[in-house]
Amino acid sequence: MTATTLIDPAPQSAETRPKACLAGMTRAALAERLGDLGVPERQRRMRVSQLWGWTYVRGATDFELMTDIAKELRGELAAHFTLARPEIVTEQVSVDGTRKWLLRLADGKEVETVYIPEADRGTLCISSQVGCTLNCTFCHTGTQRLVRNLSTSEIVGQIMLARDRIGDWPGAVPSDPTGLPSGERKITNVVLMGMGEPLYNFDNVRDACAIVADGDGLSISRRRLTLSTSGIVPEIPRWGEEAGTMLAISLHAVRDELRDELVPINKKWPIAELLDACRAIPASRTRNASPSNM
Ligand code: SF4
Repeated sequence: MTATTLIDPAPQSAETRPKACLAGMTRAALAERLGDLGVPERQRRMRVSQLWGWTYVRGATDFELMTDIAKELRGELAAHFTLARPEIVTEQVSVDGTRKWLLRLADGKEVETVYIPEADRGTLCISSQVGCTLNCTFCHTGTQRLVRNLSTSEIVGQIMLARDRIGDWPGAVPSDPTGLPSGERKITNVVLMGMGEPLYNFDNVRDACAIVADGDGLSISRRRLTLSTSGIVPEIPRWGEEAGTMLAISLHAVRDELRDELVPINKKWPIAELLDACRAIPASRTRNASPSNM
């Protein structure tokens, strides 16, 4: 019998860690990573604000553009962080301007993001999981098994990519102007109504919503940020307390017999329980929804 020596993997230092996506890191996590890079504590808050502005207000994709940050630190940032977006597999633009992207993530998994422009607003529908554990009968994603939750960076990254493609950064030009709203901002609303059940990826979705709503960054207010759920009753009051976005229920039927068929999670948490959970959070944060692309 051959003896086997088990070797513990070396702990990852700042030098050996893979590059972290800057878009999607919370302010606290970013400050901590800057500390790992030797940025003095008294400077970290200012550096986080600078990076936040370059990332979310200007949409920078290159650290060299950040000219108010010393060249040496820019080099360190580029060595340890990335501003890369998800890779576009396909981009479809319909005659009314609706865009649908199939995006490839760093591990090769794919998700969809959809942008729906109207005259005075633009709504981006983003995904929260690769696949889904639920089996709603009307839904293509429901035929796929759950592969994994999306990270906070992957959730925020869908918005960054969409803003790139429709020219929604100051001074940017859209790659295709078809159907874009006339206002200054092209993405005014974000809905978590794409692939996956967002309440089953609670923490990452909550952190992503906090980043998206940050008034010094992407600045999409929580009233324009909507989580759509199939009805994960135990998580609904918690979402109201911790995230405070709008909430939409993917109802599809008002009787349990029919909803049991269309949205099978209804067998576990029927309509009466779902409505009780919704009543536990402020009424202004609930409305009915019928997802168009789920
Ligand atoms: S509708 Fe939403 S919750 Fe239901 S299977 Fe599709 S992705 Fe999952």
